[in-house]
Amino acid sequence: MLPPGADSVVVRHGDIGVKSSQVQANMEGTLRENLAAMLDARDVPGDVEREWGRLLVRAPSSDAAASAADAAADTFGVVSASPAVSVAPTLDAITDALARTAEEKYEDGAFAVDARRAGEHDFGSHDVNRAGGDAVWAAVEDDFDPEVDLDDPDVTFSVEVRDDEAFVHLDTREGPGGMPLGTQKPLVALLSGGIDSPVAVFEAMKRGAPVVPLYLDLGEYGGPDHRARAEETARRLARYAPNEDLGLRVADAGDVVEELASETGRTRMLSFRRFMYRVAEHVAHEEGAMGVVTGEAMGQKSSQTAANIAVVDRATDLPVHRPLFSMDKQEIIARAREIGTYRDSTLDVGCERLAPSQPLTAAPLDSMLADEPEDLFERAREVASDVERAEVPTA
Ligand code: ATP
Ligand code: MG
Repeated sequence: MLPPGADSVVVRHGDIGVKSSQVQANMEGTLRENLAAMLDARDVPGDVEREWGRLLVRAPSSDAAASAADAAADTFGVVSASPAVSVAPTLDAITDALARTAEEKYEDGAFAVDARRAGEHDFGSHDVNRAGGDAVWAAVEDDFDPEVDLDDPDVTFSVEVRDDEAFVHLDTREGPGGMPLGTQKPLVALLSGGIDSPVAVFEAMKRGAPVVPLYLDLGEYGGPDHRARAEETARRLARYAPNEDLGLRVADAGDVVEELASETGRTRMLSFRRFMYRVAEHVAHEEGAMGVVTGEAMGQKSSQTAANIAVVDRATDLPVHRPLFSMDKQEIIARAREIGTYRDSTLDVGCERLAPSQPLTAAPLDSMLADEPEDLFERAREVASDVERAEVPTA
C-alpha cells in the first residue's frame, strides 16, 4: 500500500552502518550507483540521493515510487525500502498527510502511528504519535469505528522525520541485505546451473563480490540443454547486478571428462573437481578475481565430505568459498525459489552420469593422485586459455 501522492522511497542499509565514516561514505556511494543502475535497467524514472545513513529515491509518480521500492528490494546492501510521501517537517504537514492517507487507505481493523525523529524540531516523536493518531481517527470515524492497537496493528502509519523533511509510509519491503555489489574484489563462481550454484552466486554477490560465472561444458556428459540451463541461470542472476558483467564463461571440458570417465574409478569426481578448481584459478588470474565460489554443501555428495574437500582444495592456492556450506537441500531450494533461479535449475537436461557408482567418501590423496591423469593441470591450463563467452543481457 502506498500513501496518496507517494513521491519517494526511503531506502535503508545495514552492515554499512558499522563502518568508519569514510568507508561508510564510499559504500553508500556505491549503493547509490547500484540502485540508480537498477532503476535504469528496469526503466523506472527516479533520482537516487545519498543521505547520511540511508538513500532516498525521488520519484515522479506513485507508480514510479512503487516500482523503485521493488527495485531497491532487489539491490544488494538494501535492508528495506518504503515507498513514501514527503512533507515539510512540521506537525501540521505530517498530520495532514496522515489524515489524507487514512482517508484513502484505512478501511477497517486496528491502526498505529509509528514515528521516528532525528534532527532539530520543536516537537518529539511522541507528539507525532499522539497528534497523528488523532488525525487518523478523525479522518475515518464517520465511516467506521477505528481502533488503536500499538502491538499488532492491521495498518501502521509510519512517520520518519528528518531535519528538513518528513516521510509518511505504510509498507516496508525487505531487501536482500548484505553489502553493495562491487565493495569486494571479484570472485570466479563455478556455475553448473543446478539448484545449488546459482544460490551460491547470489550469496557471494550479496556480500559485495562481483562474480565471474564459469561453466564447464561436459561434452557428451552435459549437452546443449545443460549449458543452456547454466546460461539461463546466469541471465536470471544478472537481474540483480545491472552494472556488472555476468556473461557466462564456458570452458570446454568434454575431452577431459571423457578421459576421466574411461580411465579413472572411484576418485573420478575428485579429479574432475580438482580440474575445475584449476580452470577457475586460471580464469581468476585472467579476470583479477580473488577466489572461487562453489555451490558445495558439507556432506551433500561424496565429493563434498570434509575429507574429500581437504583433498580437492589442494588443487588451488586460491580460497574456495562455499556460501551454502551449512545449508540443507530444502533450505537451498527455498532460497532458489525466493531469488527466482529454481525453475531454470530444475529443467530436465538429460545429462549422463559422470559420477562412479561407488565413490570414496574419504579418498587418500596418494591413491587419487595415482589414478589421476598426470597432465590434468596442464590440460586445465589449456582449457582455461580457450574460454568462450556467452553473452548474457541484463534485461
Ligand atoms: P549444483 O550444485 O549447482 O546443483 P550439481 O548438483 O550439478 O550443481 P555438484 O555435483 O553438487 O553439482 O557440484 C558441486 C559444485 O561444483 C556446484 O555447485 C558448482 O559450483 C560446481 N560445478 C559442478 N558442475 C559444474 C559445471 N559443469 N560447471 C561449473 N561448475 C560446476
Ligand atoms: Mg550440488
